[in-house]
Amino acid sequence: MRARLKIRGRESVKNHLTRELGMRLARLSGKKVEYMKPDVMISLVIDKENNVDVAVKSRPLALFGRYVKKSRGAPQKQEKCPSCEGRGCNSCNYLGLSGYSSIEGVIAKGLVEITGGQGPKFSWIGSEDQSSLVLGNGRPFYVRVFNPRKRKPKKIRVRGNGVVAVLSVIEDEPGPLPRFRVKTKIHAKCEKELGDGDLKKLNLLAGEEVSFQSRSKTATKKIYSARVRRIDGKQFAFTIVADGGLMIKQFVGGEEYMKPNISEILGAKCECIAFDILEVEL
Ligand SMILES: [Zn+2]
Repeated sequence: MRARLKIRGRESVKNHLTRELGMRLARLSGKKVEYMKPDVMISLVIDKENNVDVAVKSRPLALFGRYVKKSRGAPQKQEKCPSCEGRGCNSCNYLGLSGYSSIEGVIAKGLVEITGGQGPKFSWIGSEDQSSLVLGNGRPFYVRVFNPRKRKPKKIRVRGNGVVAVLSVIEDEPGPLPRFRVKTKIHAKCEKELGDGDLKKLNLLAGEEVSFQSRSKTATKKIYSARVRRIDGKQFAFTIVADGGLMIKQFVGGEEYMKPNISEILGAKCECIAFDILEVEL
């Protein structure tokens, strides 16, 4: 082919074609050609009959955000769309989800509308209960949006179902998730009436480490500060700052061999009625 077309030089036909197409596209679009980390990748397949097939894909968009949840009820996660299993399709409006009621659903819907992309994938930095509030600066998370049509949105603000999220585009996709500390307010109820002496024992948890079994390994989470406040004879509020990933309900009830735990310290079975996230610190 090189001889027949009198192509000189060392460049291969494929490279030459790629370069030529790149130059023409650059002229047409007024954009630069970028081979290393392109925003948009165009693939051409030319078959023996000279049919040309073109596929266009854009690089996923990585974002970092935080959400606050000012009313109770929305779960963090949403079931995947049963037809596309998360990739995004016509029947789920390219969200990849079964609905919009969760925190994931609210944020995904906003992101797909703003970026024109599909199937956002979240990496949450910790989680809370459906009945928990998330206050302060909110819970941090990373998200990737696939095939975005807009890649330079300004600061993004999304709201719905009691959830407000603020996100911004980041240059690189996140590696391992960072360590974090959480300030949590626990509302608990004990089986027995509690004296002031009983309750004050909980304040001694500040500086302690809680250990428990997690996937057949022993995990430890440190408690940095602890403050207890009586609500009535059996109920109390306990505010702690602890390493992220401490399972609050088990910490109150003493399940999963958690040691120390609140039930054990108070010498009676206690139950977590609700807990709220006051701050998450990276
Ligand atoms: Zn779908």
